[in-house]
Amino acid sequence: MAERLGPPLADPLFARLAIIGCGLIGSSIARVARRKNLARDIVVADISPNVRARVEALALADRVTADPCDSVTGADLVIVCAPVGANATIAESIGPALAPGAIVSDVGSVKGAVVTAMAPHLPKHVYFIPAHPVAGTEQSGPDAGFATLFHGRWCILTPPEGANEAAVAKLHRFWSEAGSNVETMGAQHHDLVLAITSHVPHLIAYNIVGTADDLAQVTQSEVIKFSAGGFRDFTRIAASDPTMWRDVFLNNKDAVLEVLGRFTEDLSALQRMIRWGDGDGLFNLFTRTRAIRRSIVESGQETAAPDFGRRDPDQ
Ligand code: NAP
Repeated sequence: MAERLGPPLADPLFARLAIIGCGLIGSSIARVARRKNLARDIVVADISPNVRARVEALALADRVTADPCDSVTGADLVIVCAPVGANATIAESIGPALAPGAIVSDVGSVKGAVVTAMAPHLPKHVYFIPAHPVAGTEQSGPDAGFATLFHGRWCILTPPEGANEAAVAKLHRFWSEAGSNVETMGAQHHDLVLAITSHVPHLIAYNIVGTADDLAQVTQSEVIKFSAGGFRDFTRIAASDPTMWRDVFLNNKDAVLEVLGRFTEDLSALQRMIRWGDGDGLFNLFTRTRAIRRSIVESGQETAAPDFGRRDPDQ
């Protein structure tokens, strides 16, 4: 694992990293920052006493506090890793304590709303560079994190227009050292791209699992029993954190509704093909989508192993 991430840096990139919210993403950042010597000190703030206790037990940070404002004292990199809906309150609380020249970032799955929520509370003397590591699992909490979570995954930076180039470059370096491929784009564009690649697929999974559950008769027996089919993969996605995903949909409303409109039209077209026995239409679509799957595997974002690369239980 250490090999995949490369050796630790001789000199840390940052003197003090403050991580606010230390669940799956925050704790993975803490782990990789420690492993790669990306920051000399790591300070964690989390609202939850249980999470703070686990962060201490796992020795993920040099200092753990309940107070976000306290955590940012002397930090030259602050990464907010709480659910998106908490970002405005956190920004308001840390604003007065931020050191001049500090980089303030986040990991939210939505970018436009994060900028609107945080920017007004941040002082002019900090560099605000929102980010989204496109990496995760359906697990939550500090025990679920791991140092290689970001390895080979994209991290999208959405610096506002006119952002300080040196600060953007430094945050870019941080994520590259964490193993990510880093790309920069506008916040609105990010939200549209993620609506199609992540948010709407999650909504579809939540919906199909909910529909199956509503068919109570089936759920009692067959759904669980026969869930080795495609349904099982939907249940994995639909097990994702309810708070995080509620906030994603409330905060990326416009892009999600736009993509959902297109999706509904295409679903109606599929319905028509099935009704009218248009086998060629179905075959052509499925051939096109199979090619997309192949190109995702070829780009290294997925494994070609059958069963989504799940481990053989006999191994
Ligand atoms: P998580 O495991 O639930 O961790 C979030 C942590 O933040 C929890 O410990 C939570 O405490 C804490 N928190 C909530 N409000 C807070 C506040 N006001 N101050 C300090 N801490 C607070 O969630 P996650 O999966 O790491 O997601 C965190 C962020 O990463 C979200 O913005 C999400 O959009 C983004 N993200 C997630 C994924 C993914 O796959 N999970 C991928 C990319 C980006 P409680 O448990 O008490 O609420």
